[in-house]
Amino acid sequence: MSPTNASPPRPSPAEVARRLDRAQALCAARGAQLTALRREVLELLLLRQGSAKAYDLHDDMRERHGRVAPTTVYRALEFLMEQQLVHRVDALNCFVVCNLDHSPHTHPHDHTMMLVCSRCGQVTEMHDDPAIEAIRRALQDDAPGFHATGIEIKGVCGACQSPPASS
Ligand SMILES: [Zn+2]
Ligand SMILES: [Zn+2]
Repeated sequence: MSPTNASPPRPSPAEVARRLDRAQALCAARGAQLTALRREVLELLLLRQGSAKAYDLHDDMRERHGRVAPTTVYRALEFLMEQQLVHRVDALNCFVVCNLDHSPHTHPHDHTMMLVCSRCGQVTEMHDDPAIEAIRRALQDDAPGFHATGIEIKGVCGACQSPPASS
């Protein structure tokens, strides 16, 4: 269970609290309710460096509360995805916290691109990149009627490609 070389540091409690408060304010501004449960699932995801599978979050919830139905976690994740505070990454079957730091502007899924490292599992979320626009335009021409709901690119991140330090 040693951490992978590229995993980012665990966020500080102050940083987690700050992001949760931002999420709370954002939901309130939209007339959506970030209930205690939904807030806790977001907190657990942040504590897992912003990326986790649903069953990991379910484990975390059970550790804190005992018996928790898996659907409880899924429903909270669905809400968080609707609010674009969290995204699903199909390539890894996991969920990631949106890296826009919960800014109030929304970003359609087909304007977002996820770079997924198949070695360390790191996910980099990109917005407003020319590559995204090019893919969207090409799809319009080549696959009319196809509605993209997200762009994921699998590969190996820079950190995983750099050679191990010689001993
Ligand atoms: Zn996002
Ligand atoms: Zn990597």
